[in-house]
Amino acid sequence: MSPSDASPIASPATSYPEDHSVRFGFENTYARLPEHFYARLDPTPVVAPRLVKVNRELARNLRLDPDALASAPGVEILAGNRVAEGAEPLALAYAGHQFGYFVPQLGDGRANLLGEVVACDGVHYDIQLKGSGRTPFSRGGDGRAALGPVLREYIVSEAMAALGVPTTRALAAVTTGERVLRDAALPGAVLTRVAASHLRVGTFQYFAARGDTEGTRMLADYAIARHYPEAAHAKHPYRALLDGVIARQAQLISQWMLLGFIHGVMNTDNTSISGETIDYGPCAFMEGFAPSKVFSSIDHGGRYAYGNQPRAALWNLARLAEALLPVLVQEAGSEEAAVAVANEALTAFEPQFEVARSAGLRRKLGLFTEHDGDAALAQELLERMAANRADFTLTFRRLCDAAAGTEGDAGVRTLFADPGAYDGWAAGWRGRLEKESADGQARAAVMRRVNPLFIPRNHHVEAALDAASKRQDFQLFEDLFEVVSRPFEDRPGLERYAVPARPEECVLQTFCGT
Ligand code: AMP
Ligand code: MG
Repeated sequence: MSPSDASPIASPATSYPEDHSVRFGFENTYARLPEHFYARLDPTPVVAPRLVKVNRELARNLRLDPDALASAPGVEILAGNRVAEGAEPLALAYAGHQFGYFVPQLGDGRANLLGEVVACDGVHYDIQLKGSGRTPFSRGGDGRAALGPVLREYIVSEAMAALGVPTTRALAAVTTGERVLRDAALPGAVLTRVAASHLRVGTFQYFAARGDTEGTRMLADYAIARHYPEAAHAKHPYRALLDGVIARQAQLISQWMLLGFIHGVMNTDNTSISGETIDYGPCAFMEGFAPSKVFSSIDHGGRYAYGNQPRAALWNLARLAEALLPVLVQEAGSEEAAVAVANEALTAFEPQFEVARSAGLRRKLGLFTEHDGDAALAQELLERMAANRADFTLTFRRLCDAAAGTEGDAGVRTLFADPGAYDGWAAGWRGRLEKESADGQARAAVMRRVNPLFIPRNHHVEAALDAASKRQDFQLFEDLFEVVSRPFEDRPGLERYAVPARPEECVLQTFCGT
């Protein structure tokens, strides 16, 4: 769901039942697919559900009554203790490459899809409980989630939505009153996740690995109907599906790169067919710019380092193309022709990614027209930022002030270990800005709409998760959520959220927490 969907488009005409009873109005389509696509089972009840938060604006966009969700019966549903009317709980089957190694069966090991609701935009969205108990796909896991990772996903996914990045959303979080055993005993929680769908590259791999071409075809038809309806009218619909997923992933990854976002676990089971960011594990936003940056404690080889993300995405898309081969053969006439088609589709990724990234960089630099040398100018800044560990987010934000006038330079210079490295670049940038017609203030205003002031900085995230997990104090979580929900606005009094961690506050590693 993109932020334009999340803006207050909720029709005020939506009326909720007077008694605030919980009505989802499920219109389930996945449950109509064959039984081997999933396992039907209800969430496992928990001891003492307690509401942490309901995302009221998102609820209204989904035509759900936020008061009903926050009521005692609503919380029972969000915790998995009661099955809502019309829900058909399922754990979805999927496979996936994890850090390059293929696992033929993963699946929802700790999640239940409750069903789909139709939002104000007319689109179907999945309502899923994550951390809702064991399923046939749990393998050795306990089926549960700890409060910390649930709140991290809540904050970061909502921040991404506010930043304009396609992403799954967080509708609610509840604590369970139970402990989950990780390195320590931690408070348990359930996240209610909203997604355009939970189809992943790994879902296609599940059927491909079983030689189930009929399953692959049905899944492809389903993905087309749900996410790429225009592909149904193409001469080769499955090729068009592959092209569509590649195009959306190219856009998505370019947005991550333009914001300094590191997903951390870009496995094929965490690569969504709809083009949304999904599965917020050890994700983080970079502070000091370093293309080789890795946060995840389990990513030893740097496979999913910031600078490797485009390559990782393309690798995942190649796995999708492989999984689709049997249906591409039906379209192309022969295996050889299908392989050629798949390879041709994949070659589109890099140019599409580059076009999106360079257009984004131009916008970030206030260059609204296109000139030779723009890409080199942007690249030169990034290299100087890297050499000087300049804070990624603040450098671009303060460039907005510098774009309005040279008095803004001072704020940017101080972010560079050697301030002269900025000066040298800024001279060339100012020369280039002379080719733009917008006046300085107008340019700065437009730039502030693409260069956020507020991202969920890791030390604030950690502090919020810590207070919640250790002291049941949710104030920092609420405060941080509020800050990152309006990332582009200057807001007096919130300056401390905009600056990088002091050395002693730095978060060096993040953990999946699963
Ligand atoms: P993730 O790292 O969250 O993308 O999960 C990878 C796979 O492990 C998925 O199949 C999950 O359902 C499964 N999984 C993760 N944590 C647990 C858990 N605590 N219990 C059962 N399955 C889990
Ligand atoms: Mg996953």
